[in-house]
Amino acid sequence: MKIGVLALQGDFEAHERRLAELGAQPVAVRYARQLDAIDGLILPGGESTANLLLLKGEGLWEPLRRFAAEKPVLGTCAGAILLAREVAGPSQRSLGAMDFAIERNAYGRQIDSSIRRVEPERAFTERTRPGALEAVLIRAPIVRSVGPQVEVLIRDGKDPIMLEQGPRLAATFHAELTDDTRVHELFLAKVGRR
Ligand code: GLN
Repeated sequence: MKIGVLALQGDFEAHERRLAELGAQPVAVRYARQLDAIDGLILPGGESTANLLLLKGEGLWEPLRRFAAEKPVLGTCAGAILLAREVAGPSQRSLGAMDFAIERNAYGRQIDSSIRRVEPERAFTERTRPGALEAVLIRAPIVRSVGPQVEVLIRDGKDPIMLEQGPRLAATFHAELTDDTRVHELFLAKVGRR
């Protein structure tokens, strides 16, 4: 399986390593034409505003919007912000590939980074493995509302931190920074089923 990782900005290399570890072939995506040759795409964490500017500058915005509307995509943190229907804090453009609203940098300054131990929902553990998960939140956003077609796979308290809609997954935490491989395994399983 060839899995693209958007490699304009942010921590794309950690995703590439994780994919290689799991036996997939990572492709660093920087040009629109590369989207034709991949089975799924990861939008990494980083800075969503910087990614927006680079995406537009590289002519990737429209091809990426079309890709994310149809094909398997996993967005983590800034990547999840790009996938949302609506972004606040402040408001900015997004791909609208998943029906949720998200607020950037929503944990506030003091605790803007933390590691939280969470118990994933059964919809996640049944398809991967049971057990708690460590969610690395770095200047993370908070999901404020989800539409009817979105399933919540992981919550931190009442806040959804991992979501699924059709072939798409979004996580507000950095699943590529711990040694828990379940998020990427679930994504690869979804890509493989198509
Ligand atoms: N604060 C970043 C943003 O709003 C996201 C941080 C991250 O990806 N770790 O884009």
